Amino acid sequence: MTDALTVNGLLAPDGPVARRLPDFEPRPQQMQMAHAVEQALSSKRHLIAEAGTGTGKSFAYLLPAAVYADRHVGEGPVIISTRTIALQEQLEHKDLPFLHAVLPFEWSSVTAIGRNNYLCLRRMHLAEREQHLFEDPERHSQLRKIVDWSMTTKDGTKQDLAFPPMPEVWEEVQAEHGNCLQRACKHYNQCHWQRARRRMQTAQVLVVNHALYFADLALRIAGASYLPAHRVVIFDEAHHLERVATESLGLRIGRSTVGWHLRRLHGRRSDKSLLSQHGSPVARVLWEEAHQHNEAFFADINDRLLASGKSDGHALHDEPVDEPLTPVLRALSTELASAAVRVTEIDAQMELQSRANGLDALCATLRALCVPNPAAETPLVRWIEPSRHGAQLCGAPLDVSQALRQHLFTKGPTTILTSATLGTGDDANFGWLRRQLGLDEADTLRVGSPFDYDRAVQMVLPEALPDPSSDSAAFRAEVVQQCLRHVVENGGRALILCTSWDFVRSVAAGLRPSLAAAGIELLVQGEAPMVRLLEQKRTVPTSVLIGTDSLWEGIDLRGDALTLLVITRLPFQSPGHPLTQARMAMMKAQGRDPFADHSLPEAILKFRQGFGRLIRGSQDRGKVVVLDPRVRTKGYGRRFLSALPFSAGFDPTGG
Ligand code: SF4
Repeated sequence: MTDALTVNGLLAPDGPVARRLPDFEPRPQQMQMAHAVEQALSSKRHLIAEAGTGTGKSFAYLLPAAVYADRHVGEGPVIISTRTIALQEQLEHKDLPFLHAVLPFEWSSVTAIGRNNYLCLRRMHLAEREQHLFEDPERHSQLRKIVDWSMTTKDGTKQDLAFPPMPEVWEEVQAEHGNCLQRACKHYNQCHWQRARRRMQTAQVLVVNHALYFADLALRIAGASYLPAHRVVIFDEAHHLERVATESLGLRIGRSTVGWHLRRLHGRRSDKSLLSQHGSPVARVLWEEAHQHNEAFFADINDRLLASGKSDGHALHDEPVDEPLTPVLRALSTELASAAVRVTEIDAQMELQSRANGLDALCATLRALCVPNPAAETPLVRWIEPSRHGAQLCGAPLDVSQALRQHLFTKGPTTILTSATLGTGDDANFGWLRRQLGLDEADTLRVGSPFDYDRAVQMVLPEALPDPSSDSAAFRAEVVQQCLRHVVENGGRALILCTSWDFVRSVAAGLRPSLAAAGIELLVQGEAPMVRLLEQKRTVPTSVLIGTDSLWEGIDLRGDALTLLVITRLPFQSPGHPLTQARMAMMKAQGRDPFADHSLPEAILKFRQGFGRLIRGSQDRGKVVVLDPRVRTKGYGRRFLSALPFSAGFDPTGG
C-alpha cells in the first residue's frame, strides 16, 4: 500500500486532509484508533475499540474503511452499522460528505433503510384503481397525495413525503418482501426500491442501523438475506449489540399483531377488501373465526398475566400454552393460496399469496411461543409481557452468544466494535462484552477522551443518605431534598437521571412546586416527546430535565444547558424480568456469579454512559452529584467510581 493511502499518509501535516482543511488537527486518540482499525482490516482480525467522548471516532473508523473499500472493489461493501437512524443520517449528511471531499479517490457510499420504507408503484396503482379503498376521507386524501408525490419524488421513500402517512395507508403502497414481481413488473425500470437495491449491491461503503443488520443476520441464519455479502462490518455504539441481537433473534406476538394481518385482508371498505373480492365463503367464515379466537385468546393471556401479579412479565418456563388460532389461520392461509391460483389478475394473485405467506409465518411464530422446544439449537425463553396494546407472548434466545459466535464472528465478516463505553474500565480485554457476544478472539484498544475531566468535573458524593435497597421511602424523600438543594444552587441547568418511571414521577412531583417557586422550569420525560423536551431544554438552558432509561445515553446537551448532573441511583437493572431471571439461572448453573458477571458490569457500563452526558465539548464544565450511598458503603461501589475517566482515578474518601 502506498504511504499516500494510509492513515499516516492521509493525515500527514502535508497530506490531503490538512491541505483541504488547514485548521484540521488530528487528535492523538483519533490517530491511535484509526491505526488500530486500519491494522484490523488488513489483518482480518476482529477489533474492540473503546474511544472516550470527543475522540472523533466516526472519522477514525470511516477513513480506514473508505481506504479499505477502495482497495477491495468487487469484494462487497464495508458495512457501517449505527444504533439509530439519527446516527445513520449524521454519517450520511455530515461525516461521509466531508470524507468524500477530502479523500483523493472516487468511492461510493450508500445509506440503506428497510424495504417497507419504499413506495411500490405497482401496489400504489392497484390501490388507486380501487378508488374507494378507504371509507375515511382523510385516508383517501392521503392516498391521492401519495399518487401526486410519486410523480416528483427522487427516492420514493416514506421519509421524503411532506406528511407522515397513516400506517393503514402506507401499508397499501409500500414495497414488501414476497410481494414483488421483480423484472416481470412493468414499473421495474422506474422502481425506487429496485434502484436502491442496485445501489446497495454496488456500494463500497454501506451505512445501515443495528436493527436492520441483525434482522438481516436472522434472515441469513434462515438461508435468505437482504444486505449484500460483505467482508467487513463496523458497529458503532456496539454496547447495544447484545440487546439488538436478542430482539432480532427473538419473537413476540400480541392481539394487535394478529389483528393487523386480519385487517389487511378485510379491513378496508368491506365490499372492496381482498377477502370480499376474491375470498371464498369458507374463507370469510374462517376470517370471522380467526377474529373471535384472537380476541378470546389474548384476553386469556392478559388474565394469566394479571393473575401472576408480575409487572415485568410472567415466565412460562416449560409450560405449553393451548391456543386455538393456528388451525384457523392455517386453513385461512390455504384458502387464500387457492384463491391466488384461481384469479387471473397478477396483482390480486400477488396480494393473496403474500397474505397467505404472512399468515403461515404468523402460525410459525405462535407455535414457537406456545410450544416449548428444549431440543432447539438455541432454546427460547418464553414469557407474557404487558404492552400498550395488551399482553404479548414473547420469546428470546437464552443466550445469543452461541448464535453470534457461529453466524457472525466465526464464519462471518471481520468486525470492528466501537463505542465510548464497552467495558467496566478495569477489564483490559473486554471479557464481559466478549463473553456476552460470543466474540472469543479479538484485538482490543482503549483510548481515553481528550477532555480534561480532572479540571472540568467536580464530583459530589453526599454522605449519610438512606440505603435505597433497604429504605426506599426515606431514600426517595432525601433524593427530592438533595436534588432541590443542588439544582437551586446551580440555577437549574440540570439533568436528573433515575432508574424507574415510578421514581421519575415521584421525584418530579416532589420537585415541581419548589422549582416553580424558584422560577426553574421542570421537564419530565414522558410528559412530551423526547425531541420536544430536548428542544425546550436547549431553548431554556436553566430548565431541569428529569427522566430514566433513554436519558442515560445518546443525548447531547452542551454548554450552559447542562452544568449539573444528578445520578439518583446506581443503574442496576430490575432482576424481575423473566429473560434476566432465566439468564441469571443459566449463569448459576454454569457455576458463575450472576451479580459479578452480569448485573454489576451492566450497571457500571450504564453509570459510565450517564456520567458521559455532562461533558460533551472541550469547553464544558460541571458538577456530578451521585446520591446513591452504595458507592461509598458497598465493596463494589469503588468499581463504579474508578470506572470514571479521572486521570488518577477517583477517591471516594476525598483523600
Ligand atoms: S418491482 Fe416490485 S417493488 Fe418495484 S414497483 Fe414492481 S412490484 Fe413494486
